[in-house]
Amino acid sequence: AIRIEGLRKSFGPLEVLKGVSLCAREGDVVAIIGGSGSGKSTMLRCINFLETPSAGRIVIGGEEVRMKPDGSPADRRQIEALRQRLGMVFQQFNLWSHRTILENLIEVPVHVLKVPKAEAITRAQRLLDRVGLSAKADTYPAFLSGGQQQRAAIARALCVDPRAMLFDEPTSALDPELVGEVLAVIRDLAAEGRTMILVTHEMKFAREVASHVIYLHNGVIEEEGPPEALFGAPKSDRLKQFLKSVG
Ligand code: ATP
Ligand code: MG
Repeated sequence: AIRIEGLRKSFGPLEVLKGVSLCAREGDVVAIIGGSGSGKSTMLRCINFLETPSAGRIVIGGEEVRMKPDGSPADRRQIEALRQRLGMVFQQFNLWSHRTILENLIEVPVHVLKVPKAEAITRAQRLLDRVGLSAKADTYPAFLSGGQQQRAAIARALCVDPRAMLFDEPTSALDPELVGEVLAVIRDLAAEGRTMILVTHEMKFAREVASHVIYLHNGVIEEEGPPEALFGAPKSDRLKQFLKSVG
């Protein structure tokens, strides 16, 4: 489970997160929606410590992240260990361009987690098969379509046997005809009970896969609840407006 309590984040004078809380239990799919600049990516990046929170608590798998009073990590090694077990997938695919797809997948398991290479390769091949890319193992990322690259990035995130997957608009950089294949992979992960936190602008998809939806506005959770309630019977005027604007 991932629990966040009273998370705050400022960039200089700009307060981007104004005390947000979230709980994703084992098997939950939490979708975060909201307008541009509302703080969605910052929130996700704080969970993964790509950003240092200004205040608040983060508890991952029962382990509280130890922070100094200013929110910075008290123990670098704890952060490293926790981060390794969170699978993060970004809008841009972030594959290493000078490594083959298979090499991309085994890099962290072999060099960071010290998994024996043969074992890492077997696992990587299984995951590539799962996302429909077994034929591309020895190909370089540039020769893959955007959808294939994103599926490879998801397989790479799965290689570390993550406790949870964090997705930040995984389909927004894709051509429309490639979105479906990536959503299918994520849907599949949701169905097998993976814990996920997903920032998305695909409202239909959020409604379908999420167990809980959070609407963020200006760094505050304006409304949250099960998807049927949030999309079917929104209460806040801002959310109603937002849903209308994204159509
Ligand atoms: P989008 O839907 O466009 O991706 P978002 O909800 O993900 O938006 P964030 O990327 O979290 O929004 O940004 C929230 C606010 O924080 C924005 O006003 C942004 O300019 C600001 N911000 C984000 N990162 C930084 C940074 N490193 N330094 C300064 N300001 C930042
Ligand atoms: Mg963002």
